[in-house]
Amino acid sequence: MRSHYCGSINETHTDQEVTLCGWVHRRRDHGGVIFLDLRDREGVAQIVFDPDTPECFSAAEKVRSEFVVKVTGRVRLRPAGTENKDMATGKIEVLGKSLEILARAKTPPFPLDEYVDVGEDTRLRYRYMDLRRPEMQNRLRFRSKVTSYLRRFLDEQGFMDVETPILTRATPEGARDYLVPSRTHEGCFFALPQSPQLFKQLLMMSGFDRYYQIAKCFRDEDLRADRQPEFTQIDIEASFIDENTIMSITETMIRSMFRDLLSVDLGEFPRMPFSEAMRRFGSDKPDMRISLEMVDVADLLKSVEFKVFSGPANDPKGRVVAMRLPKGGELSRKQIDDYTKFVGIYGAKGLAYIKVNELAKGIEGLQSPIVKFMPGNIALEIIERVGAQDGDLVFFGADKAKIVNEAIGALRVKLGHDLKLLEREWAPLWVVDFPMFEETGDGGLTAIHHPFTAPSCSLETVEKDPESALSRAYDMVLNGTELGGGSIRIHDADMQEAVLKILGITEEQAKEKFGFLLEALKFGAPPHGGLAFGLDRLVMLMTGASSIREVIAFPKTQSAMCMLTEAPGTVDPKQLRELNIRLRVKEEAKPAVDANTGN
Ligand code: ASP
Repeated sequence: MRSHYCGSINETHTDQEVTLCGWVHRRRDHGGVIFLDLRDREGVAQIVFDPDTPECFSAAEKVRSEFVVKVTGRVRLRPAGTENKDMATGKIEVLGKSLEILARAKTPPFPLDEYVDVGEDTRLRYRYMDLRRPEMQNRLRFRSKVTSYLRRFLDEQGFMDVETPILTRATPEGARDYLVPSRTHEGCFFALPQSPQLFKQLLMMSGFDRYYQIAKCFRDEDLRADRQPEFTQIDIEASFIDENTIMSITETMIRSMFRDLLSVDLGEFPRMPFSEAMRRFGSDKPDMRISLEMVDVADLLKSVEFKVFSGPANDPKGRVVAMRLPKGGELSRKQIDDYTKFVGIYGAKGLAYIKVNELAKGIEGLQSPIVKFMPGNIALEIIERVGAQDGDLVFFGADKAKIVNEAIGALRVKLGHDLKLLEREWAPLWVVDFPMFEETGDGGLTAIHHPFTAPSCSLETVEKDPESALSRAYDMVLNGTELGGGSIRIHDADMQEAVLKILGITEEQAKEKFGFLLEALKFGAPPHGGLAFGLDRLVMLMTGASSIREVIAFPKTQSAMCMLTEAPGTVDPKQLRELNIRLRVKEEAKPAVDANTGN
């Protein structure tokens, strides 16, 4: 239908006849001359209609925003002085000779010819309109570049794209499953995959050696800020490799992609043990653009009378840290109050601090409501340990380690952003040496990664002291976001059974849930491992988008529904009957009926 895309014509096409198709982005009537900005996915071109061509002039008078039209005309240079430098096609225009309306359009729910901040619900309800906006077009186009780049890279490295089932059994990745009832097997359900984890391991056992898939994963998680119930992973697995090989392949992949698509040099990714990340930054995905650090000071506060400090300092599960904020003395009372409220979200009961006015004056030079609770030179020792200087502020966190890590870890990132302390644009790293297990709170243990991750010690050692065992897992972190994570897997049936046992999964349950994996491990499983990247997050970071919903064509809302299709929806009772499902609806309040009288 068309000879060119609107956005692709320029002065080299001068005097040529072109046919363009697209949406009317804007229409302006300039006393006898009509200008249409015509938009397609490549950009916008200006078409001029003058009354010398009466037929198409009157057609142009009828079009409105977002009508779909086909225009034929001659490209000419815009008259001197009317060029538009902000437009790729701003040096030329098309003198319209014919105009055909291909489709009419109702008034758009929000204007598309200028950027207006529209509520997200409206944008999602009319997503097909929202996606017409250049910002969304650019993001999805970029996403497509990312996936084709990654495919090309992995293909070249000998990875093979294999699809794994969507209707399957549960894969334990720590979330609830989305279930699909089976019509042919009464009372039975498929689970949508939380990841292709078990299948990719089976593919290694089948000898495929290097696998990848751009895989949809489904996790029914509780509402948390930036999650989607269905999301996309770049899922990778390889055989006869160790962690260094897989980390080096995928690091090269991400580094070359940043170089080729964004002209960004990420450099070599440093590696940091989990324990160090938690100790210094309170997080297993530290944002290394920010240099603020937590410093342990429990040893200095064990015997102070102030329970807020001495309690956690003496509690094996407690933690007391100090964090120096250079020039933090400039923070206002109100700012400190706001940060106190902020750490409260993470369960911190307060936010103690010391302002360093003048160190030369010793204790006198410190300003704080808590110094009086620190006998002798404790306060000064703390100040020295964190390296604080005149004009600085030192924040404290004292509570259960989990709360301190989360609260002060989050405060660190917030201060970094609020006070513009980001020292670099990009800060990648690998976090390694994760523990195998963590406590569940009810005395049990759960896998930090997933139950198929290999420990870095022997079977006997894991069994003897599971809580100290480290795993062969690794996470790639960029700017405080986990981009991807994976591990070397268990390829020995005995080890797998032992780990499942430590997780409190009985032999019977293990057989029922992963019997097929345990059996496959007995038929010759190669050493293998891999990882998965979150594609949505990766594209979000690369495009600077504010949420993953901005880089997904048709995302769900935060309450896991689709505004556009109104899914999930109710279904026909007949369908439910076929599935042998009866809904337990809340009984409507009925008046009590007397069995004898019927009244
Ligand atoms: N299946 C894991 C996940 O979804 C990734 C991996 O271990 O490869 O997080």
